[in-house]
Parts: sequence; structure tokens; C-alpha cells
Amino acid sequence: MINVTQSFLPPLEEYTQILQKSWDKKWITNRGELILELEEKLKQFLGINFITITTNGTLPLQIAIKALELSGEIITTPFSYVASSSVISWENCTPVYVDIHPEYLTIDETKIEEKITDKTSAILATHVFGNPCHIVEIEKIAKKHNLKVIYDAAHCFGVQYNGESIFNFGDVSTCSFHATKIFHTGEGGCMITKDQNLHEKLFYHHNFGHNGPEAFHGIGINGKTSELQAALGLAVFNHLDAIFEGRKIAVEAYNQFLDFSRIQKLKIRENTVWNYHYYPVIFETEEILLKVKEALNKENIFPRRYFYPSLNTIKYLNGEKMPISESISQRILCLPLFAELPPETVATLSKLINQNL
Ligand SMILES: *Cc1c(COP(=O)(O)O)cnc(C)c1O
Repeated sequence: MINVTQSFLPPLEEYTQILQKSWDKKWITNRGELILELEEKLKQFLGINFITITTNGTLPLQIAIKALELSGEIITTPFSYVASSSVISWENCTPVYVDIHPEYLTIDETKIEEKITDKTSAILATHVFGNPCHIVEIEKIAKKHNLKVIYDAAHCFGVQYNGESIFNFGDVSTCSFHATKIFHTGEGGCMITKDQNLHEKLFYHHNFGHNGPEAFHGIGINGKTSELQAALGLAVFNHLDAIFEGRKIAVEAYNQFLDFSRIQKLKIRENTVWNYHYYPVIFETEEILLKVKEALNKENIFPRRYFYPSLNTIKYLNGEKMPISESISQRILCLPLFAELPPETVATLSKLINQNL
């Protein structure tokens, strides 16, 4: 069976060897030695100033909305995982959708301003499939209208834009370390900001608002992660070069073998070092997609319809019509992609797809 992704698992003894440290100390959570070590390593590797590792990649979005004291309307993309919209509603704000660019698949920055009202407090956009939004234009709009910017950068581990980590943009960027993501801790995530005061606020919020064992800074929630997850992260971290290289080889094989006369592929934004996180293909019609999917399923190959449905069409999210996002959502399929996917398998898989176009 081949799934859309396969979690990278380091040799078990590497994991247990790291975990031994927390056994020796009898310290398994509450920001022990391993989580601190992982945060340091990630700061160095990514080129960022402040990071707080969290339980998952959804909570940091909620914490960011709280810490930035957002209210009213938040402008967002209909083409993302449901978490980037549901956090807005969960925090008692209203998601206001702006359609996406038909090739980059990120929020269409030219359509943002017409949706700004006196209730708008922020833009929450997703760098979808690791492809950056039009960061420069979004920053300009935000400055002009005094809005905050949160980037759901769940797909962006290792992505660079204009020569620096993509996590350095926006007021807050968040990432997911879920098992299906490039770098993972089983479940996990993080929040990143360049602003030290904001970093401290985010940090307090993720730790009950603690300001010392018997003091409280303000309201908080528990968004901490454990040493067990940190150990897995440290073990995976040691294999990052191989992970990126394996994915790159698989992506290049798809680029070589798929028939692009009838398939649209993701257009990566200029000035981007991409991370080979997903391999989305857009078919001419939904019928073709369903035909291809069925042919692959028959061979025990399971691609996924990321992202379907378009979030604006989900009843409880109350969105207006978004023609481009809805059309893309119906026609886009993410093909299997992971570090250990051999190019020969990609060739076979591509042939099967080409035959069903
Ligand atoms: C994975 C993902 C999330 C959620 O991350 P979790 O760690 O599973 O909570 C949020 N947004 C996007 C775009 C994602 O792909």
C-alpha cells in the first residue's frame, strides 16, 4: 500500500537513546532539557530568533489570535486545511474569505482590500503546499489598514523566501510538526515571531499564563509538549538532509514522467527555496480526477484530495461563493510523496495516471 505520505521514522534505537536522558532525569515534560535542545537546534537550522514548540499546529493559531487581541472579521483563504478557518470561529471571530490565485493557489492579494471593513482586524493566510503568499503585498495592505498578519505556515518547514526563513514574515507564523509533515514530532507544532514582547506573550499563553511557579502573567491555556515528542523530533532532526533529498528525487521523477499537456502543476512563487512537501496535480475536470483516483486505489495507491471541499462551502463557516477555490478544490489531487518513495515507483504511478487522463 502506498499512501499520500509516509511518516519518516528514525531507527528506534536512536529515539530511545535520546529518550534515555529524560529517563535518567525522571523529567518527561514541562520544558525539560530535550525540548530546549530542540528549540535551539530549530532556531539555528531555520534562521529564526524566537520559537515556542507546542502540542500541535492548530493551537498556536488560536494562541496567536488571542495574543494579538483580534476581534471581528479576519480575512482568510478558502483553500487550506480546515484548521486555519475553524480557529477563527473558535476564537469568536468571523472568517471572511478572499479567493485564491489560480496558479499559486495562495490567497489572491489583489482581492483583499475590497473585503476590508471597519470590523477587520487581521489577515490569516496559508502558504499552501509550502508555496509563499504574496508576502510583500500583504504586508503593504496590512500596514495601510492597520491589520495584523498571521501565516499558517504548517507546510513550510525549510522554506525560504527572499533569502530568509519564511517563518520570519507576518506578526506570527505557525508550523505543524504532525506525523504527516516534513519535520515531525508525532504530534506537535510551533509559533514563531520576530518580536520579543510578542514572543513572551505567546509563550505565557501556551503555559497557563505562568510567570513563575506561583505567579501568573495573564490568561493562558496548556499548549506545551512533552520530552517524549521532543526526543522524536531530535531523532528526526538528525536525518533532515536525507529527508529533503529523498523528496526532491521523487518530485523530479514526477516532473519527468507526468503528462503536463493535460495536468496543471503547482507554480512556485519567484524567490522561493521550496521544500518538496506536497505534489499536487490539477486535472481538467473532476471526472478525470475521480477516474485517476479510482485507478490508483485499485492498485492500493491512495492519493488525497487536498484540499477538498473549499472551506467557504462548509456550512458552519458561512462563506460567500469563491469560484476559483471551488473549481480548484474539485480538481486537485495530492500524489504520494515522501522521502523513501523510489523514483521507479513514481514512474509506474505516473504512467497509470497518464493512461487515465
Ligand atoms: C497540518 C495542518 C494544520 C494543523 O496542524 P496540526 O499539527 O495537525 O494541528 C493547520 N493548517 C494546515 C494548512 C495544515 O496542513
